[in-house]
Amino acid sequence: MVQKKAARKTAGKAARPAKAPGKTARPSSAKPASRRSLPADRGLELAPKRIEELLRRLRAAYPNAECALLHRNPWELLVATILSAQCTDARVNMVTPELFRKFPTPAAFAQASLPAIEEEIRSTGFYHNKAKSISGAAKKIVGEFNGRVPQTMAELLIIPGAARKTANVVLGVAFGKAEGVVVDTHVLRLSHRLGLTRAEDPKKVEQDLMQIIPKDRWIAFSHELIHHGRQVCIARKPRCAECPLETLCNAPDKTWSSH
Ligand code: SF4
Repeated sequence: MVQKKAARKTAGKAARPAKAPGKTARPSSAKPASRRSLPADRGLELAPKRIEELLRRLRAAYPNAECALLHRNPWELLVATILSAQCTDARVNMVTPELFRKFPTPAAFAQASLPAIEEEIRSTGFYHNKAKSISGAAKKIVGEFNGRVPQTMAELLIIPGAARKTANVVLGVAFGKAEGVVVDTHVLRLSHRLGLTRAEDPKKVEQDLMQIIPKDRWIAFSHELIHHGRQVCIARKPRCAECPLETLCNAPDKTWSSH
């Protein structure tokens, strides 16, 4: 459930964080952004107290945020994440039960023909490329990793279809390892709206986020932003009047503002 916004005016001091109910301690692993190394207009946006407050409100709003892709093991998560490109998680979740019934292991996918895989994943879009990626990933994992999804970023990045976003999802969700921050379309959009980055390239956005978000929040932070992007900070018409981050947000396309 999303919290209602605090009805507190900030009298034009746009980037000043709203006072939170109750004090929160800075996470021990926080890496505060240095104001001295930032342009003057970025100092307030990236001020450690503002980032802390954003993180606190996100956690309060989405305490149970987790990956929405159905899976029973790291391999199924890898396949589901490849299928989720340009497709909703709900659609992927409609396709994967039958897909994994027909091809229950990486070896079964490795032996399957491309048309057989394509037939099962057609409704997720871009199914020619996705089938190639899944088949290639299965062959690589069977041939070089003894049928098991590897657990490091370097190894995941040599698997067909697994760029950094997919690798971060698998590492974070399947193995609980924070080697980076998942930057999908929601994280990208919200990071811009919240002033957390000015980069456009997802790799640079990820680097920016890794600088300002404590490492022990990387995994949950992306889940929370994705939930917020789906439920409140939607692409076309963000629901700013009901947003728990509103007093901290200066996005130019806000639909309502208290300050
Ligand atoms: S743009 Fe609106 S909905 Fe999105 S974070 Fe800012 S206040 Fe919230």
